[in-house]
Amino acid sequence: MTFAATVLTLYPEMFPGPLGLSLAGRALERGAWSFAARNIRDHATDRHRTVDDTPAGGGVGMVLKADILAAAIDAAAPPDDPRPRLLMSPRGRPLTQARVRALAEGPGAVIVCGRFEGVDQRVIEGRGLEEVSIGDYILSGGELAAMVLLDACVRLLPGVMGKEASGEDESFSDGLLEYPHYTRPPMWEERAIPEILVSGDHGRIARWRRAEAEALTAERRPDLWAAYQERRGRKD
Ligand code: SAH
Repeated sequence: MTFAATVLTLYPEMFPGPLGLSLAGRALERGAWSFAARNIRDHATDRHRTVDDTPAGGGVGMVLKADILAAAIDAAAPPDDPRPRLLMSPRGRPLTQARVRALAEGPGAVIVCGRFEGVDQRVIEGRGLEEVSIGDYILSGGELAAMVLLDACVRLLPGVMGKEASGEDESFSDGLLEYPHYTRPPMWEERAIPEILVSGDHGRIARWRRAEAEALTAERRPDLWAAYQERRGRKD
């Protein structure tokens, strides 16, 4: 079974966009994953194809209607569809590499992209949508957020990354930021590649990389560093 992504959006023409190029695009062509974008507006019922309405209780902006969005979800994902139903939302639990990994191991995802002020709360509850945020800032729609989530998942699918191993060393996979990289030439603008990396001593290189990763994490991400130290403490 391949990872199957269905995106519900008012702008299906935005897709596959960047997901159709490079690593993700080649994987899509090969059939390593499948993708469909569905237009929520196809489920509008009136002459003007209305999908939104003013917020109950007043206030600015518009809200995606529960009945229209629910019809779009039901058409794309019948109740027995095993895929998780996600709603891209700044109120959601922030996306992490651990969640990405879990999603990539599953059957795929049905992803709802919000617009306007957001969607009617009743459809979130009635269709069991899990809200997922890509960070503490506000986008104008869920489409870019859905692309971020899918890009992160697709590169983890079997055979998508050139070298399986390149997923393992990366930032976050063991809770640390990644060590610095270098490549030829050995000298550039009077900056040399660290001597250890050209020593050929793989044990020393591994220790140097770990030390660099730890120092970077401690300096830039005290939150990750504290969690890492706590995990390490538990193991000892
Ligand atoms: N009024 C809302 C923001 C709506 S932004 C609020 O204050 O919470 C419009 C849509 O963009 C949202 O429904 C959501 O689908 C998407 N979106 C915006 N920021 C996002 C983020 N950080 N992560 C995921 N989706 C986001």
